[in-house]
Amino acid sequence: MITFTSIPSESIFLDPRKGFEQTREQFEVRIDPLTNRTGHVSHLGAITPQQLPLELYNTPGVKGFCPFCIPYREKKTPKFLRDVLPKGRSIRNEAFLIPNLFPYDIYNAIVVMTDEHVAPLEHFNEKRLYDALFVGIEFLKRIRSIDPRLPYHIMAWNYMPPSGGGLVHPHQQFFATEHPGNQFMDELRASEQFLKTHGLNYWSELVMEEKRRGDRFIGHAGEGTWLASFVPLGVLGDITCIFPDVFSINDFSDRHIRDLVTGLLNVFRYYRTHDIFSFNSSLFFGPEDQGYFSCHLRIIPRTFLNTRDNASDFNFFQTLLSEPVSVVSPEKLSEEVSSFFSEDSP
Ligand SMILES: [Zn+2]
Repeated sequence: MITFTSIPSESIFLDPRKGFEQTREQFEVRIDPLTNRTGHVSHLGAITPQQLPLELYNTPGVKGFCPFCIPYREKKTPKFLRDVLPKGRSIRNEAFLIPNLFPYDIYNAIVVMTDEHVAPLEHFNEKRLYDALFVGIEFLKRIRSIDPRLPYHIMAWNYMPPSGGGLVHPHQQFFATEHPGNQFMDELRASEQFLKTHGLNYWSELVMEEKRRGDRFIGHAGEGTWLASFVPLGVLGDITCIFPDVFSINDFSDRHIRDLVTGLLNVFRYYRTHDIFSFNSSLFFGPEDQGYFSCHLRIIPRTFLNTRDNASDFNFFQTLLSEPVSVVSPEKLSEEVSSFFSEDSP
């Protein structure tokens, strides 16, 4: 029922590095088994993640003004109306939930995750991740109860400058929306179609099929199953976590938050050993009263191509052709990350 289609191909040219000998360069185009969208897997190993100068981000000349830092947070960040949040903001230990001063949607919350301005990956412990996700999910559940006409709920996270994050200070965003974006809607429609055609939930089937094959199965963390995506959205690959039995925001319990945190911490440990300093991540929740679009998270590393001129790892392929390109093999990625999900993980 789930088909993984790959179209291998090659380009032939006379290579100046080999005295203009005829050379064949292999690449493949993959077709996403759910959406039928394509992605290129090519130039394997061609991009090396770049280290970021984290210390520099804390120096006064570079840091500039940060409204999320403790001295300004109280006076310089907005509050929600009383009927949205009675206290205007939601606080749990270091996690500090506020409206986005530059909102993209009707309800767009930001969770400042840490007191410290620069938090390297090793500073994200279980408590910090749990607290941030807890206040964000709680906020989305509240919006669901006061404004049920907005059917979709999302967490999105840009971490560090290569990801497009405007502030280095760690923060996540939470949206309740009617317009969750093209990727979300393509997946939602295709998942509904899969149910109509096969009478089954695509996401449960994907978990079973990937587990049976083993090629891209990374591991479990509680109820979350972690996989390397067959068609990666990022140049350095793409990891998906699926909660097959969670469909809408109200299904996502405290237990699920803890399971997600456990898995994320495993991925972060893998990132740290591979010099990955930046990522985009999002968590999708479908509408209520459906059983075909399971909650899932995606996380993709981001990097500058070099630190000389800070070239972006996204180019016309992603921005104008809407075509992801990966220089990492999903199967190799899965092999590498899975050791961080085993009991005797490094
Ligand atoms: Zn700050």
